[in-house]
Parts: sequence; C-alpha cells; structure tokens
Amino acid sequence: MRTPLTRELHDLLERGRDRQLRLAVTGLSRSGKTAFLTSLVNQLRHAGLEARLDLLPAAREGRLLGARRIQQQDLGVPRFPYDQAMLALDDQPPRWPEATRGISELRLAIRYRPARRGLLGVETRQLTLDLFDYPGEWLLDLPLLDHDYLSWSRAQRHDGDGERAALFTDWHRAVADLDPAEEVDEARLAEIAEQYAKGLRAAREAGFADLQPGRFLLPGELEGAPVLQFFPLPGIAEADRGELAALPAESLYATLARRFRHYQQHIVKPFYREHFRRFDRQIVLVDVLGALNAGPERFEDLSRALSNLMQSFDYGRRSLLTRLFAPRIDRLAIAATKADHVTPEQHGRLVALLEALLADPLKDLRFADVPVRALSLAAIRATQSREVNQQGRRSPALQGTTLAGESLLMFPGEVPDRLPAADFWSRQGFDFTAFRPLPRDKGTPLPHIRMDAALDWLIGDKLS
Ligand code: GDP
Repeated sequence: MRTPLTRELHDLLERGRDRQLRLAVTGLSRSGKTAFLTSLVNQLRHAGLEARLDLLPAAREGRLLGARRIQQQDLGVPRFPYDQAMLALDDQPPRWPEATRGISELRLAIRYRPARRGLLGVETRQLTLDLFDYPGEWLLDLPLLDHDYLSWSRAQRHDGDGERAALFTDWHRAVADLDPAEEVDEARLAEIAEQYAKGLRAAREAGFADLQPGRFLLPGELEGAPVLQFFPLPGIAEADRGELAALPAESLYATLARRFRHYQQHIVKPFYREHFRRFDRQIVLVDVLGALNAGPERFEDLSRALSNLMQSFDYGRRSLLTRLFAPRIDRLAIAATKADHVTPEQHGRLVALLEALLADPLKDLRFADVPVRALSLAAIRATQSREVNQQGRRSPALQGTTLAGESLLMFPGEVPDRLPAADFWSRQGFDFTAFRPLPRDKGTPLPHIRMDAALDWLIGDKLS
C-alpha cells in the first residue's frame, strides 16, 4: 500500500512528466457545471468508441483509448456524483441531474497513444486528470479580502428602488434600528443575519448574481454557524472609523467586524490556499442566454458579478491574488453554456456577446499573459436543429421536449452580438424555453455541442 507521502511523491513525478493535470470547472449556480462535468467524464469514457469528438485531435486520430475513474487524491473532498447524474439522464423520461452545491472532485486515468512514436516503438501513455467542480459564488468573495469590515459595509448597496433592493426591505428595516455601539444581543444578531441571508437567497432565486458573501448562498457544512452571522451596517461612515474602532469588544460593531475577519481568514483564504492555488487550468461557465432571457436588470447584474468573479484570474503583478500566493493557472476557457437553446447560426453571436460581457476582464487576462479562449457549447444537447419552410423561405428552428413533456418546434430568437442597448429590451422578445434532455439508448454517449473543442483547449496539448 502506498503511504500518503509516496503518493504525493508519485503525483509530483507524474506532474513533472506532464502526465497529471488539475482541471477545475466553475460558474455561478445553474450555469451548467454539473451538466458539463458529467458530459466531460461521459465523453472521455466513450472516447475511442462512439463518442463524437472530432475537434479533439487525439480522438480524431484514433489515439485516445478511453478513460477510467480512479481513486481520488484528496479524500476530504466529496466525490463528484457522476453515477447519480447518469441515473437521472438515463431515466424514463430523462431528467437533468441535481446540481452539486459545494466543491467536489473526480480523478480520471486517460489512456492514449502519443502522436509520435517513442524510441521504444508503439507505447501507450496515461494522463491523470483531476477534475474539480466548485461554485463560482465562492469567487465573488475574493474582492472581500481587499476590505475591512467598515469599507465592506460601505461597498454593499441594498437600497434604491430596483427589484433587487425590494428583496432586502425586511433586513433594511431591522438593521436601521441598530446602534453600532450597543451591546450585542446574540439572538437578535442571528435573526437579522438570517434576514440578510434570506435577502441574498431571494435575490439569487430571482436571477441576480452579484451577491456577497458567497458562502451565505451555499453554506455547505457551515449552515447556521456564527461565522456566517454578520451583515453590513449601512449607516456607518469613513469619518467614524476612529470612533468605531474604539468601541468595546462586546459592542455590536466590534462583534460584526470580528466575524467578518474570521470569514476572511478562515473561509475565503483557505479556499484559495488549499484548492484554487493548485488548479492548473480552469473553465468558467456562463449562462448568458439565461440572463438575456431574464431582462436588463439581471443582465447588468450578471455583468457586474462576472467582473468580480474574473478578478480571481487576474494575475497582474499588483493583483490581490499575487499578494496571497503565486497563481499557476496556465490556461483558461470561458464558455457560454446551453448553446442548444438557440439555432446553430446564432452560436457565433453568442460567443461575441460573451466576449462583450467579459471585455474588461479579458483585457486584463491578455495583459497578464494568461492564455484564454471563449467558446459556446452545450454540455448535454437537449434540442435537435431543424429547418422550417416559412412563406417559401427556409429558416432554422429547434425541436425539443419541454420540461412539462410538450413537444415543441420553435425559433427562439436572435442573440445580440454586442451588449444590448436600452431599446433592445423593449424591441425584442426572447423565448429560451427549458428543455428536457434528449432520450437516448442506454450506454450511448451524451449528445453535445463543442464539448470536444473545450476538451481540446483544456487538455488536448497533454495528449499529443
Ligand atoms: P450548476 O448549478 O452550475 O451545476 O448547473 P447545472 O449543471 O445543474 O445546470 C442547471 C440547469 O441548466 C440544468 O438543470 C438544465 O436545465 C440546464 N442545462 C445545463 N446544461 C445544459 C445544456 O447543455 N443544454 C440545455 N438545454 N440545458 C442545460
């Protein structure tokens, strides 16, 4: 049996020989992470057999021999529930797998023949691929490390008259009565913290994405823990800094500030130190179409959330991350998911829109010399592409079965190829219906769009 030390040594050697890769998949809730990882594993398991992976040279050239799941390295991280996901997709009728809610991991051994024969003739090689899936919401917490409690409180805005602010009215009313100097009442604090978390959850349900702190939305094993019991104090001013800092330890302000620091030190930082720092490559999934469907306020909000999220990939010299550790991601993909919601001739526009949405973060990445590629894909294609005859003209359409079981033939709409201006929202209607996964014969690979292109960018060079 291998001891942990020799296993680490083994891993180190494998890495040195370029035979091991740690690939992470992230994105906000419902962006399609679970579907993506399930499909990725499924495609690789069927590689060399029936999987359609023409855009991945190793597969196209018949050099990819297949993949097997093996024991993961870190036994403290839950295993990605691939089997459960496949059970849902193989059901009658097929169902979407239940989404994962925290970090999970799965290790694959991929066997392939190198493109060029080695000295010893035909040989097979193995790439150990560690796959991780974690909520993009956790990355929204990076900017929080740049704050202290006072400046963070001031940066959180839950007022105004938007739809989002309305979800925080209860919390706002409760917090308005508080005096930072008063002695803390633990029960009351827990109550107001719960109201705050409720506001965040309601905002997420309503389709908003730019929400902080991330763990309030997906607390995992921290549910109910005091470290998640804080909230911003809206009334406090920079000018009061000295006075607030002098308040006794039992004051409301000092208690909230302490919990905020604890959250930074014991929740946010460890994720970056223990996980993020060790990823070699990442793919960030974005449900652009979902946001487009949900209207201007949500779309703007997604844009803000993405620029926050992408800060975790900005390795500029003075970036927050480089101050924490030396990041090592050498390749990044950004993908607009669920591309099967629109007709194929719209896919190019979808990528253009994704690039427009991420224009600033992409500039920063290029500046920091991180190779990045934007693409559109459908991890699990749920529609068939069709052509219909409309008044003598052939036009593209999609066919699928809605979640309610109704068969539908439709043209969902045009995707704008740039950030939509104000008049776009009033002019154009979108109708991206949610579809059921397509039925398929058991044991056949999942239908997809451009999973092979994503695989090529993320691991193709390691299979050459
Ligand atoms: P997660 O929260 O990021 O893990 O998101 P999921 O993978 O659970 O995806 C959320 C929902 O988006 C799924 O339940 C599906 O309804 C839909 N979805 C995900 N991927 C696809 C896809 O490739 N095509 C289509 N049509 N829908 C998808």
